Amino acid sequence: MKNKNIIKSTSGIRGIIGTGLEPITATAYGAAFGTFLKKGRVVVGRDSRPSGSIIMPAVISGLLSVGLDVIDIGIVPTPTVEIAVKRTHAQGGICITASHNPSQWNALKFFNQSGVFITPQEYRRLDEIFNLKKFAFKKFDKLGQVIKQTHWVEEHVKSTLAIKEVNKRAIKKRKLKVVVDAINGAGSRALPLLLEKLGVQTITINCAEDGNFVHEPEPIPKNLTQLSKAVKKYKADLGLACDPDADRLALVDETGNPIGEELTLAIAVKAVLSKKRGPTVINLSTSKVTEDIARSLGSKVYYSKVGESHVVQTIKAKKAVIGGEGNGGVIYPAFHSGRDSLIGSALVLTVLAEEKKTLSELIATFPRYYNIKLKDYLKGDFSKKLSRFEKNAFQILGKTTLDKRDGLRFNFKQGWLQIRSSNTEPIYRLIVETNNEKLTKSLAYQVKRYFK
Ligand code: MG
Repeated sequence: MKNKNIIKSTSGIRGIIGTGLEPITATAYGAAFGTFLKKGRVVVGRDSRPSGSIIMPAVISGLLSVGLDVIDIGIVPTPTVEIAVKRTHAQGGICITASHNPSQWNALKFFNQSGVFITPQEYRRLDEIFNLKKFAFKKFDKLGQVIKQTHWVEEHVKSTLAIKEVNKRAIKKRKLKVVVDAINGAGSRALPLLLEKLGVQTITINCAEDGNFVHEPEPIPKNLTQLSKAVKKYKADLGLACDPDADRLALVDETGNPIGEELTLAIAVKAVLSKKRGPTVINLSTSKVTEDIARSLGSKVYYSKVGESHVVQTIKAKKAVIGGEGNGGVIYPAFHSGRDSLIGSALVLTVLAEEKKTLSELIATFPRYYNIKLKDYLKGDFSKKLSRFEKNAFQILGKTTLDKRDGLRFNFKQGWLQIRSSNTEPIYRLIVETNNEKLTKSLAYQVKRYFK
């Protein structure tokens, strides 16, 4: 069963509704995943985009047809699925969400019984079952059953409040006012509920959970103008924005300035490491500000390849106490091993409350870096261009150390740069970050010329 319009990645599959990801394909993947797991229960949840209402029953049908039981937990953040898998002792989980991709997309993310993304080897096995249609369909009296559970958002909030490093008393005392923009996605109930329980005065925009993406869904500064305006209008202390499946978190300061999602992780790292000792894991595309903060608090910092599953595997291998991605993805492994905007929010509020600073004052105490993130279509032989650039890099960058685990990452005196091809799209990504704005711009310009 080949479908060239389905894009496969380490964590699952995605496609555009109508020209790639159809209910038939979703059912086949449900049956393939059930066949792969053989028996037991599977937790299924989804984000709020409209196509979820057809893709979710299709996936569930596939699972039931091969004899797996399903726990349907409805519209929930991706991390909530991870938590439910672990707590219900399910064999696995599926979250139906295309994350920060626009409405026309949808996707299936697969989790194993530990509530973490299936490994690349597990994925290959699943894909083989799908391609060869080796589904273990059951007879009429051996089909699976559906159990509906609606309490997992509340459970997720409760567990977040129980994290030791979340200072509930200090947050309550600080009497913060916060605006939440959940882009009408899966964070629409969860984030306001968490804030309410923390005693925060909460103003919601785009929290209808109806899948109406009123702005571009990726929580990057250019998409947060509505939140910025609301923070200023309500004279709030800060704004919180998540992506449609609520695993990534971005912040807007009290002046309405979107501070960039890189700083979410830096603040969360500060919250944890100021109370708990241990290593930190970030990916090779993450701002150096997080490394600097972690080191200043006595933590060893390890870098992983890009991709949530790589970060999680490295967190496990290094026994890290905190980790994540510079795109606003905070991972607190003592709770569960996935990016989580609820944990991110609670940790950010903790630092603000304990340090008695505004968000802009807090950021002003951090090392200042200037970064540029570019992407462009791959033209010609990318690996040839990459090796030509590697040979000539000295002329542009001077003395460097080179990390070749994921494309090329050069570390040099004033900063670093990384160039790599995307895991999910036919594009390359270039990130340049230095302590000097002009230098960042000039390096980005010079490097880009090699990849025309
Ligand atoms: Mg996401």
